[in-house]
Amino acid sequence: SQRPDLILLDVIMPGIGGYEICAKLKADDTTRDIPVIFVTSIADPDSENKGFLVGGVDYVVKPINPVTLRARVKTHLELKHKTDLLKSLATLDGLTGIANRRRLNDFLSQEWRRAIRSSKNLSLILLDIDYFKNYNDYYGHQEGDICLQKIALMFQKILERSTDLVARYGGEEFCFVMPETPLEGTIYLAKQIQHGIAELAIPHLKSAISSIVTVSMGLASIIPTLNNDYNDLLKIADQKLYLAKHNGRNCFYY
Ligand code: GH3
Ligand code: MG
Ligand code: MG
Repeated sequence: SQRPDLILLDVIMPGIGGYEICAKLKADDTTRDIPVIFVTSIADPDSENKGFLVGGVDYVVKPINPVTLRARVKTHLELKHKTDLLKSLATLDGLTGIANRRRLNDFLSQEWRRAIRSSKNLSLILLDIDYFKNYNDYYGHQEGDICLQKIALMFQKILERSTDLVARYGGEEFCFVMPETPLEGTIYLAKQIQHGIAELAIPHLKSAISSIVTVSMGLASIIPTLNNDYNDLLKIADQKLYLAKHNGRNCFYY
């Protein structure tokens, strides 16, 4: 139930042994990255080898020297924090702080496989800001960046505490992914997004269709099979987005 940064693990315990616990932790996606230091009274080389083989990062023999153990704990905690930071930098968009394209692709392929197993819908919204080139030309690139940040923040608030993901797909394009959500639920979210955009009410004097920033969206929802992949879902949403753009913008199609 907790996600510790580091685990100190004994080898011999009543019930399940330390090696087995460690192997289980390493086999689970949610606990794989937690470093495990074995702390044990077994001092022979074979046991030590086994500790590393099952995924331990260190092996300390009892009776412990507190100074040594503390130093090793510190080293592994620092390494863990740096690794976590690198991982978040690699998956987050630098401008808006929301998920980037790489994270989106990982999420989509993971949810695609999950949806095949459960035979449930995977849904997606592709969103593009209307007349954003005009916005940049008129208000300047810096204001354009701020506009993207405001919109991304609002998107994140809409998705608060859900299993959905919103990512920056490209320049002024965003992508929402909703696992286990049928089309009706996706339409509901699209309306929430429209509502959020209207509430932000960011002035856009150079938009041909409104006095504030608006967005166009393409929705897609399918039950994934082994015969297609998530790019097919993206393709459908892209076609619907094209329709929205060509039928007046500031709307969504599905
Ligand atoms: P449409 O309604 O057809 O979508 O028109 P549009 O002007 O939004 O579309 P277009 O693709 O022609 O222009 C997208 C613009 O988005 C181009 C670029 O100036 C702007 N843009 C893309 N990425 C960024 C960014 O990171 N920061 C800023 N400020 N602007 C960006
Ligand atoms: Mg675009
Ligand atoms: Mg655009």
